[in-house]
Amino acid sequence: MVRKKPASVAVLALQGDFEAHRRALARMGIASFEARKPAEIDEAAGVIIPGGESTTLWKFFELAPWEEALARFAASGRPMLGTCAGAIVLAREVTNPAQKALGLLDVSIERNGYGRQADSFIGAVDAPSLGGQIPAVFIRAPRIRAVGPRVNVLATREGEPVLVRQGNVVAATFHPELTPDERVHRLAFENVAAESPAEVSRRSDEAMKR
Ligand code: GLN
Repeated sequence: MVRKKPASVAVLALQGDFEAHRRALARMGIASFEARKPAEIDEAAGVIIPGGESTTLWKFFELAPWEEALARFAASGRPMLGTCAGAIVLAREVTNPAQKALGLLDVSIERNGYGRQADSFIGAVDAPSLGGQIPAVFIRAPRIRAVGPRVNVLATREGEPVLVRQGNVVAATFHPELTPDERVHRLAFENVAAESPAEVSRRSDEAMKR
């Protein structure tokens, strides 16, 4: 009997806070692995592009065929989540300053949109379709300035979009992996089969020993 490979989400581990995303997934019973080469995401059940620094992330994207791999992945319909810098690189347009992006999410996004006074803060965002307010950590966060017709706004802060979805692509301008609230990860990966968290951590331990 051929044993089916268990579903596992690829967390891009080029730069940024990928470990916190892996812990968030593990708490939900979703296995993950760290992807450092584009081909590694081909078989993944989902992809996370974590926060960090979008310019640095983009430099890594230019060293290997990441653009192609991520576009292929998005087109396959499997779930993708980008947070903060990850949301920036998914966008159609980036401003302040302008830089290249993947164009997989029809939004215009402004880097470091909260300026100097409040460049990092913890707050709550309004997410009525997800059951109410979600605690949110903003770290030199971008601001979504325009959304296309196929983009659903799922959470707002002072009326502005901070969590959006376009089909299988979800993006947050904040860091849902830094709070125990799992709703954003659940929303993005609702179709990825969960196992018991104990089974997921047993398998990650095994993978570490290899
Ligand atoms: N300020 C960063 C950028 O512009 C994003 C910050 C983050 O990911 N926490 O890329």
